Formats: sequence, C-alpha cells, structure tokens
Amino acid sequence: MRAVKLTKSGLTFDVNYPKPVRGPSESLIRVSKAGICSTDLELVKGYYPFAGVLGHEFVGVVDESSEARWVGQRVVCSINFANPQSPEYAEYGLEHHPHRSVLGIVGRDGAMADFVSVPTWNLFEVPSELTDEEAVFAEPLAAALRICEQVIVSPSRSIAVVGPGRLGLLVGQVLQSRGAEVNLFGRSETSLKMAQALGLEADLVDRAETQKYALVVDCTGSPKGLEHALRMVRPRGTLILKSTYAGEANINLTKLVVDEIQVVGSRCGPFGAALRCLARREVNVTPLIDGRYSLDNAVIAFEHAAKPAVRKILLEISDSSIAS
Ligand SMILES: [Zn+2]
Repeated sequence: MRAVKLTKSGLTFDVNYPKPVRGPSESLIRVSKAGICSTDLELVKGYYPFAGVLGHEFVGVVDESSEARWVGQRVVCSINFANPQSPEYAEYGLEHHPHRSVLGIVGRDGAMADFVSVPTWNLFEVPSELTDEEAVFAEPLAAALRICEQVIVSPSRSIAVVGPGRLGLLVGQVLQSRGAEVNLFGRSETSLKMAQALGLEADLVDRAETQKYALVVDCTGSPKGLEHALRMVRPRGTLILKSTYAGEANINLTKLVVDEIQVVGSRCGPFGAALRCLARREVNVTPLIDGRYSLDNAVIAFEHAAKPAVRKILLEISDSSIAS
C-alpha cells in the first residue's frame, strides 16, 4: 500500500509499504483523509525519535473489525493506545500516559497510508452531518478542548491565546464558546486576519499588555512565543503550554515563583466532545484548510505545511463515499 514514512534519512513516500495486519481487538481502517499537524513537522525535525508511518489526524471507513457493528462505519480514532496490563492503567486509569503507544508518534504506525490498524475501543463514529474535511479536525479540536478539562474556563476570566495558527485558532474558538473574552495574539497583521474572520479579537503580540491575563495559552510552538505568553500572565494566573517542539526553551522560573503562576502542560483531549462541538457548529474548522494534496504528493504537502503562516494541509487518500 501507499504510505508516508519517516526514517532516519527523512520523509519518504513508499508505494510498497506492507498493509497492516489487524490485531485481535483491532479494526482495519481505509483512510479517507489525514491532516498534517505541527507535531508531524516536529517529528520530521527530530523532536522525538519516531520511525514508521506518520499521521495521527485522520478520518476513514472501517474495513474489518474485531466487532462486526463497526464495519462500514465512518470513524475517527483517539490516538493514545493504552496497555491495560500496565500498573498506571490498572491503578490510576492513566490511559494517556506511560506504557502507551501513540498513533504515528510513539511506537505505532500512523494514518498517512491507504490503511491503518487501531484498537477498536479507540474508535468514534463520525456524525453523518459532518464532512470528512470537518471530521479530520477531531484530533486537534479534542486537544483544544483538553484545556477545559484541566482548568476552569470562567466566562469572566481574561484570556489570551498566543499564536494564531492551526491550533491557536481552534483553542481561541473553543474558549470563546465558553463565554469568555478571548484575545488572540500573532506576530504580523496578516497572521491575525483569519482569527478576525472567525470572530475572535486579535492583535499584535508586541502590543499585548504585560501581566494582564488570568489565563494564557501558548500555541506558538516557539521559545519566543512562550516568552511572550509568560509576560502576559498576571500574578496568580495560569499559563497553558500546548506546543511540542524540537529544542529547549528558556523560561524565567523566578517570575513563576514570585508571581505564583501555575504552568499546565496540555496534550490530547476528548474525541466525543470534539465531534459534538463540530456537529453543533460551535467551532468553524474548514476555513483553516490551506491546501489539499493527494497522498502521492505527500512530500510536497509537507513542504507546504512547513511554510510560515500555513494552517491545515490535508492529504486526500480515498473517497469515503465509495469505500465499502
Ligand atoms: Zn496533531
């Protein structure tokens, strides 16, 4: 089958990659569409030593399954695969943490391929009112919603989101849907246009007031963006870190102590909630699509996705309406 592979020598497109063999409690999915996200670009740069098929944002149709009712369903899939034998899982239910594999990121081939095999219990059926292009956003939208599971998003809190890119625009919309006043900050006037078009307040990061916001979310994926985010948090405020990136950041620990700032790392979130948000039209995702490429042109698609200010690039793999 076709697959986008990451090896030590970089990103390659393979037409002879072995089709995955479905495990006993797994489902084999014919992939319709996959999204390229910042994590994929960082993996290519080497933030984590992954080798295999990339891709954790996808929608597809179940071809074979350990449970017959799933066959033919259009699905998305939560990306952390727990090991039920692990003590963390048995005792604390930490299915997102140690002893896990992560689709297309840690120890598990991903979805930028004709087929992917995943644990059946990670599947979520896509509501019929959603298009494939909307459903493919379930994973990053779930990551945005994760913030609401971790901290109280009070409607009267002042909130800033730094980085008006593919994730920041989802985070901004999610937090705004909670009734909060959300300000998105970016480096250039052009980077603010999409935020404004989506009904978000947006301004240049250099103009952001110091120590103003009770909650600041860093979605920049850059050490410089993190510095800005930290500068904006008011004393006893909360700083949420949403980006994973290759390299290290300098952070002023004294400020964290003196201003009693809580720092919260935030990763994957609830898929069911993401699909509900999409189906209720609480979040608008399709304006974020900046390009669509056939899987055969994946290498060019990655080059496009890595360009500054580019938001979501999709890989078109098969047509879900004709898949069995
Ligand atoms: Zn992602």
